[in-house]
Amino acid sequence: ELHRLFPKHPLKGIEKTAHFIAVASGKGGVGKTTVALNLALALKNEGFKVGLLDADVYGPSIPVMMGLSEKPQSEAGMIVPLEKFGLKVMSFGFLLEESHPLIWRGPLVGKAVKQLLNDVMWGELDYLVVDLPPGTGDPSITVAQSIPTVSLVVVTTPQEVALADVKKAINMFKKMDISILGIVENMSYFKCAHSDEKIEIFGAGGGERLSQQMDIPLLGKIPIDLDLRRGEDEGRPGIIDSPDSETSIVFKEIARQL
Ligand code: ADP
Repeated sequence: ELHRLFPKHPLKGIEKTAHFIAVASGKGGVGKTTVALNLALALKNEGFKVGLLDADVYGPSIPVMMGLSEKPQSEAGMIVPLEKFGLKVMSFGFLLEESHPLIWRGPLVGKAVKQLLNDVMWGELDYLVVDLPPGTGDPSITVAQSIPTVSLVVVTTPQEVALADVKKAINMFKKMDISILGIVENMSYFKCAHSDEKIEIFGAGGGERLSQQMDIPLLGKIPIDLDLRRGEDEGRPGIIDSPDSETSIVFKEIARQL
C-alpha cells in the first residue's frame, strides 16, 4: 500500500534541518496539535524557516486546522509540501482517504514517517515541528525513534487523570533517551469576557507539580480560548487570527524557549 503512496528515490529531504521538535501528549484531546501548530507559526514569526509534519496517524487534524484540502504534488520523485501561513506542511491526512484508513502497525508507521522525512522536499529548515500521535502506543514510539536528534515538548491539561497519562509518556520517552525540552499546560484557566477572574476548570497547579516531580521545565500555560477553538475549526490558527491575544502571547513566549 505504501509503495503506492510514496514514490521511491534516494535523496534525503531533511538533511539540512537544524532542529527537530516533536510535540507529544499522554492522551488525545489535550491540545497537542493546537500547540504544535501555533508553536510552528510563532517560530516562523521569529524569522525562522519552519516545516510542520503532522504525524498523527490516528487522526491527522492539521489539514482542517489550517484549512488545507488540496493534495501535495510530486516533483522529480519527491513530494512537494504544501505551503500556508509561511509554513511548509506535510500531513498523513493529505495522503489517506478519509473513508479508507490504513491499519497502522509499528513497522509500517516507522517506514511511513521515515518517508515523510526523506521523500518530502523540505528544503533547508531551521525547525521541523512534528505533531506526534497521542499516547504511549507503538506509533508514538516509532515516530519519535524515526526522527534524528529529536527534542520533545509535552502537552497536558492540569487535570489529575491527564497528568497520570503524561507521566507515563514522559517516563517512556526518558527511557528511550529522548531529550524533553519542557511541558506545556493547556486549558489552564478560562477568563470570561466580563471579568478578569481566572476560572481553573481543570484544576490548578498540575503543570507546576508535574514539572517539579519530573524535573522538566514548565514552558507556559495556555488559557481555554473560545476564539482559538473557533478559528481552528475554520482553518484559521490562533496566532494568525489574533496575534496579540493573551493566548498568542503565551505561544510566542514558549517558542522563544525552543
Ligand atoms: P490533540 O491534538 O491533543 O488531540 P487538539 O489540538 O486537536 O488536541 O485539540 C482538541 C480540541 O480542543 C480542538 O477542537 C481544539 O480546537 C480545542 N482546543 C485545544 N486547545 C484549546 C484551548 N486552549 N482553548 C480552546 N480550545 C482548545
